[in-house]
Amino acid sequence: MEAKFVKYKKLIESQLENLDLEDALGRDSQKTVELDQQSVGRLSRIDALQSQAMAQAQQRRRNNLKALLQATMSRLNNKEFGYCEDCGDEIEDARLLANPVVTKCMTCLRG
Ligand SMILES: [Zn+2]
Repeated sequence: MEAKFVKYKKLIESQLENLDLEDALGRDSQKTVELDQQSVGRLSRIDALQSQAMAQAQQRRRNNLKALLQATMSRLNNKEFGYCEDCGDEIEDARLLANPVVTKCMTCLRG
């Protein structure tokens, strides 16, 4: 595997690890909310439901990002990574480093 690919592979792996850590933290806070609901009044219950909804939205965001990162990882393994899915040009390195899941070059992104 090219050095450039190894660099992106490490980047994606560390982002996936971070997501796993956040998942674990998110599960803990959702658990706490469930316990709280049994012992608190109506207003606190609304608060608890709101933070639970927020935790669930964050979970969905993480799940989406995880799927994108995994798809990016298989593009890396198939050597398809780094090329625009529309025109086939190379995607700018700086953009890939900032966010490795991008699949289009700036020209195609702007339409
Ligand atoms: Zn393009």
